[in-house]
Amino acid sequence: MLMQRCRALGPVGLLLLILVVGLLSQTVADRPAETTLPDKSRLAVLVYFDQLRGDYLERWRSLFVEQGFNRLLRDGAWFTNCHYPYANTVTGAGHASVATGCSPWKHGIILNDWYQRSEGASVYCVTDFRSEPVPPLPIEPRNREAAMKARGGTPERLLAATVADVLKSATGGKARVVSLSLKDRSAILPGGQSPDACYWYEIETGQFVTSTYYRDRVHPWVEEFNRGRPADRYYGREWQRLLPHVDYQRYSSPEEAPGKDEGFALGRTFPHLLTGGMSRPARKYYEAIYGTPFGNELLFDLVKRGIAAEALGKHATPDLLCVSFSANDPIGHVWGPDSQEVLDVTLRSDLLVKELLEVLDAQVGKGAYFLVLTADHGICPLPEHSKEEGKDAGRIKPMVLKKQMAEYLEETFGLKGDAAAAVEGFTGEGIYLSRAWLRARGQDPREVNARLARWLKNQTGILTTYTREQLIKGLPEEDVIGQCVRRSFHPDRSGDVILVPKPYWFVSPYPTGTTHGSPHSYDTHVPLVVYGQGIKPQVRPDAVTPQAAAAILAEALGVAPPKMAEAKVPENLFSSNK
Ligand SMILES: [Zn+2]
Repeated sequence: MLMQRCRALGPVGLLLLILVVGLLSQTVADRPAETTLPDKSRLAVLVYFDQLRGDYLERWRSLFVEQGFNRLLRDGAWFTNCHYPYANTVTGAGHASVATGCSPWKHGIILNDWYQRSEGASVYCVTDFRSEPVPPLPIEPRNREAAMKARGGTPERLLAATVADVLKSATGGKARVVSLSLKDRSAILPGGQSPDACYWYEIETGQFVTSTYYRDRVHPWVEEFNRGRPADRYYGREWQRLLPHVDYQRYSSPEEAPGKDEGFALGRTFPHLLTGGMSRPARKYYEAIYGTPFGNELLFDLVKRGIAAEALGKHATPDLLCVSFSANDPIGHVWGPDSQEVLDVTLRSDLLVKELLEVLDAQVGKGAYFLVLTADHGICPLPEHSKEEGKDAGRIKPMVLKKQMAEYLEETFGLKGDAAAAVEGFTGEGIYLSRAWLRARGQDPREVNARLARWLKNQTGILTTYTREQLIKGLPEEDVIGQCVRRSFHPDRSGDVILVPKPYWFVSPYPTGTTHGSPHSYDTHVPLVVYGQGIKPQVRPDAVTPQAAAAILAEALGVAPPKMAEAKVPENLFSSNK
């Protein structure tokens, strides 16, 4: 099986595999021999809420129940000044960074999708064309992009070991690792190279799937779950405010705010009717669930089954459960971080946390598990909202910018008529120039990169730019944005010129809604909450990164941190710290 994979990988993939295997074996050599210390937690739980921005817990704390987020904030350690230290604050990068403890420059997941020059194509961070979904999809994907997203899922582009990998190595494979999410990348990346169960939600079918990378049949508990068609029961449901007696506007913004989107045929205001515009459950409906709090509830039902079926926390060796609740993300994209919808899904997330803790108390035992809660990134306010506050804000249309770039290149270096070929790939932050185009014109790539970077810097909504050469050479420490861009830069995967939008600006093809992915604080700020055995209750204003989670979880599990982890366990977090 392994050799089959090696042959299918090609030389680059093979090199990556060797690197990862090398990393894992180094980790094994470095770890302490005994990992079943009685004072260590029997189960570590890594919980992500996708796009739960760092200020939400404080902003809406007075509306939370006593035993949800508040239980963690009160009895655990709450890091209020936790920021990602890199520029490309997106889901794939965030999940990989927390699990590995390092930044994209080392783990390689620079974005969700990037242009892979060696493959001559855009690639998605967790798919290739060798793995297949399990169970197989009933339909053929519509195009290459859909095929890329629908074709199975693998962690093979992840270049660093995760805490799950370390735990597996340290226990000779005995520790159970379960990783579950609605999004494939949010289950796959935290789960590492060899989780026991890794499942995500498939919008074509409304079912949870894995891939042939992991196994050829789904676990019986997942099969049974899917058989009940659990996604169908939300069809026709209305998403209403959780707390009708609370004045939502006071805690967020007016319901009819400019810049809001309709989402997945859900409408701009409450109540949001969930049909996906379909007369019966089908693809658009299954996709729409993912953009409502019902998506998180659906995932949580599977999580409960997984905890019980895999008997997590009941083995001689400690186990690891990774859960990523994804629905918060599309809700924030569609209606904006200041919307009543985001307030509402956060209140509902609070109830999920309460119930998750109750399930863990009952099944694993109070004090017998350890939990870290964080998010993969934050979110930019709707530009319309920012403008109302007097800020300079807006959307940069990627296709317009790409065309302008091509025109500039044609004017400056071109042979009339074929300038569009100059830009081989554009991710919205990285520009990949065609080497063939440059060669045909006898141009030095370094010179063209520098000229394009200078030109781009003067375009609407752009704060600054960097060339590949600058990023490889290194930047002054005081260039804080530049250092963030460097940590998102991987020479084999990143573009030739990288752009950073001004604060409150972003690159988006859509006329409404918002997004994330910048080094600005609204995108980098996330919660980091640590709860469990040995943790001193405390509120911590000192600066940390979410990547500390990897070392913290390793410490709680009694294993060495992942080899490439950059962030250490914060001082005085554990009461037993020397
Ligand atoms: Zn997002």
